[in-house]
Amino acid sequence: MSRRASPEALARQLLAATGYLDTYRSRPRLDLPSLLEHYDLEWYRRPFDDLSGALLRVGGVYRVVTNARHRLARQRFTAAHEFKHYLTDRHLSPGFACRRYVDNRLEREANVFARDLLMPAEVLGWLWGQGYHAPEQIGRALGVSAQAVDIRMAELEIGPEKALWG
Ligand SMILES: [Zn+2]
Repeated sequence: MSRRASPEALARQLLAATGYLDTYRSRPRLDLPSLLEHYDLEWYRRPFDDLSGALLRVGGVYRVVTNARHRLARQRFTAAHEFKHYLTDRHLSPGFACRRYVDNRLEREANVFARDLLMPAEVLGWLWGQGYHAPEQIGRALGVSAQAVDIRMAELEIGPEKALWG
């Protein structure tokens, strides 16, 4: 896996490699636990006070840890974010502890990767065409929060405005 690929390209490569891009029409929700398992990543849930998640190395094994106090949809986004640190950043630090609203390049890129992994543009476009219009409905289909879908749809200009004016 290239460390120099953009986070968007990296997400796309992974989705293609897992076969998801061929199967999302029957199963839109990415099987993130299996994907992490494929990389020998263990996924733990712990009740953190102020962390969204972490990537830790324990013995020779990496663990993705997400905040058990957060809703599952948000934990999936966090797990995908930590997965990006594993794929491209793990040589930079013995571990990562991630909070919301920390703005640096690695954090931004991990968020872009998580967004593209869990909400690929073509899948949102396809869902829209299938009649999935409410962010809550799309969020349930993909296993992400309605808020994340809302932001993504605005970025992609998917929505009623486009249908009216496009
Ligand atoms: Zn992070």
